[in-house]
Amino acid sequence: MSFISVRNLKKSYGKLKVLKDISFDVEKGDVIAVIGSSGSGKSTMLRCLIDLEHIGGGSVSVDGEHLIEDGKYSPREKVKEITSKMGMVFQSFNLFPHLTVRKNLEMPYSLNNKQTGISQINAICDSMLRKVGMLEKANVLPSKLSGGQQQRVAIARAMMLNPEIMLFDEPTSALDPELTGEVLSVIKQLAKEKMTMIVVTHEMSFARDVATRVLFMDDGLILEEGTPEEIFTNPQNQRTKDFLSNFI
Ligand code: ADP
Ligand code: MG
Repeated sequence: MSFISVRNLKKSYGKLKVLKDISFDVEKGDVIAVIGSSGSGKSTMLRCLIDLEHIGGGSVSVDGEHLIEDGKYSPREKVKEITSKMGMVFQSFNLFPHLTVRKNLEMPYSLNNKQTGISQINAICDSMLRKVGMLEKANVLPSKLSGGQQQRVAIARAMMLNPEIMLFDEPTSALDPELTGEVLSVIKQLAKEKMTMIVVTHEMSFARDVATRVLFMDDGLILEEGTPEEIFTNPQNQRTKDFLSNFI
């Protein structure tokens, strides 16, 4: 069985069917790039996986355990246990504005690991900040950082909880172009370390370089799925071709 299995996932907001019938698998170490036009359901799909949205139907399992099976959710504790294996990074960073960089990482960690002593938490925090090149900013507030730096801190904060999979929702689209590179290179480094990731992105060259597989979403469906080579050099679906032609 795949590490993550999504089958016939459905989600509506009132009458609006946002996810119509989504199925895909993620293996350990995969980097799945999700591409598609605005409004196609990419964010909703990620938010459903991490239990930020209520799923309307279908099945999702992670590491052999069901989050939801045929439209029936597992008990809350199980859902919580499953989603605790996931870290998410949002377009808008979502750091706590009143907490220093260090506290942004350490506060959620200590809520989840009540037994761990402060010196050990400091050490884990240091190593995560070092990983994203932000250790020297440990004691500043997010407002003193550039968008790229804030997003690197947000990645470190998600990694601090030792996730088995990272979900990224357009992690660079709120950034000025000159700041996207530093964030993408952190994500590339995670890929090198074989972190399992689903990355919603409009950065096609990044998707091409880093993804093991690419999903093209359109109007609540995955219209095409393949290797970067297949999707970018030989797309089969006319909608995929039209979408990609915007990026040439
Ligand atoms: P994408 O991330 O691909 O741009 P989204 O998942 O954000 O797409 O949105 C898919 C569709 O769902 C859009 O039509 C959007 O307007 C709608 N939508 C998203 N969130 C909500 C919500 N909370 N309530 C109502 N409609 C929503
Ligand atoms: Mg979105």
